[in-house]
Amino acid sequence: MPNWTRRGFIGSLPGFAAASLAAPQRSGRAPIKITDLKCAIIGGSPVVRVVTDQGISGYGQAESRKPYLKPMVMFYKNYILGEDPTDVERVLMRIRKMGAFKPWGSAVSAIEIALWDIAGQAAGVPVYKLLGGKIRDKVRGYNGGIRFPMKGQTPQDYAENTAKMKESKEGFTLIKQACGFHSPAMMRAIPGGWYDEPRSGAPHGDRGMLTERGLKEIILRVEAMKKVLGDEVGLALDCGPGWMPKDAIRFARALEPLNIAWLEDLIAGDYTPYTSADVFRDVTTSTSVPIHTGEQIYLRQNFKELIERQAVNVVGPDPEDVGGISETKWIAEYADLHGILMAPHGIFDGLIGLAAHVHLAAAMPQNFIGFEYPVPEQAWWYQIVDGLPDPIMKKGFIDVWDKPGLGVTFNVAAAKARLSEEDRGFFD
Ligand SMILES: [Mg+2]
Repeated sequence: MPNWTRRGFIGSLPGFAAASLAAPQRSGRAPIKITDLKCAIIGGSPVVRVVTDQGISGYGQAESRKPYLKPMVMFYKNYILGEDPTDVERVLMRIRKMGAFKPWGSAVSAIEIALWDIAGQAAGVPVYKLLGGKIRDKVRGYNGGIRFPMKGQTPQDYAENTAKMKESKEGFTLIKQACGFHSPAMMRAIPGGWYDEPRSGAPHGDRGMLTERGLKEIILRVEAMKKVLGDEVGLALDCGPGWMPKDAIRFARALEPLNIAWLEDLIAGDYTPYTSADVFRDVTTSTSVPIHTGEQIYLRQNFKELIERQAVNVVGPDPEDVGGISETKWIAEYADLHGILMAPHGIFDGLIGLAAHVHLAAAMPQNFIGFEYPVPEQAWWYQIVDGLPDPIMKKGFIDVWDKPGLGVTFNVAAAKARLSEEDRGFFD
């Protein structure tokens, strides 16, 4: 009988499972110890390697386009050396408090994911077993990342672009498009669309009250996209942040006949270092369209108010920003208790992050809708990571694999060619 079938309820909780599963298999042997923490920037993406004294390494990946996180990752090294990586929660208690909302939580998250990879390998089981086991054999990914260049910004351009996404070979059942302040290109193509001037600098700087014309023009583009998808493929909209509450309510109410899957981040969102639960609640209680937020939020505690106050209908933590796999699982369970849906963010999570999503999605409760399918920025990623199915996605779903740990690892010979001189010893 495999070890995992003997666990009780407590063993199905993230943080408890690794110790209760791995310990019996290692009885009579010295505890496994972390001997090194390494970080390499591969294609702009910080990749984390946790090295142990028993020949097992775990990999994690922080969000792409964030090479500046490398010193953040290495900051935690001295806190985790010598610890047992299969006691995931115990190790995280040493570093979790020293993280923050996006982008800073990504360093802790990547380390956490690497620890689960080790815990699974040490126990000889896939990570989803450590999360309580899978309740589904294939998991839904939604398309927020396989995009095509826009010809222009007219409603017709949005319709044509959405048609290409609908026809993509992955066969997605749910597509997310950007609109409103989440799309600076759209907003700049609507002269006098809002009562402030365009901003640059930190992400999503545009904010303000919409003009009547601005709101109408955004709605025209949404209607054009929806017409292409019909009721065959769902349409979610990434909208902000930056909307004023009454504009958000007017917008949501205008879209009610269209059966939009969700409106994401209208008030706060990507790179906003707070949650605005009270304002979200006003919007959510004023419309039948599901309201979504959460990609930038760090830790389960910062979802508490959003969930307990029913401030949104869908939460979307990103495993690589929220603090890792166990944070995401806890939030999914807590949201489910409150009738709130789960659609994790993930566009920049890379292929190691994709594996984390698959294990999580296999084990999440039935409030799970789908995760945002990560797409690497360079096609050569598919040559340097082994273990993924080919093709990865079939008709919008991924078959859950059974290999121990995350079940993906680097093809070292191929991956070495992508290392900078500074990171030359990453795989040694
Ligand atoms: Mg978003």
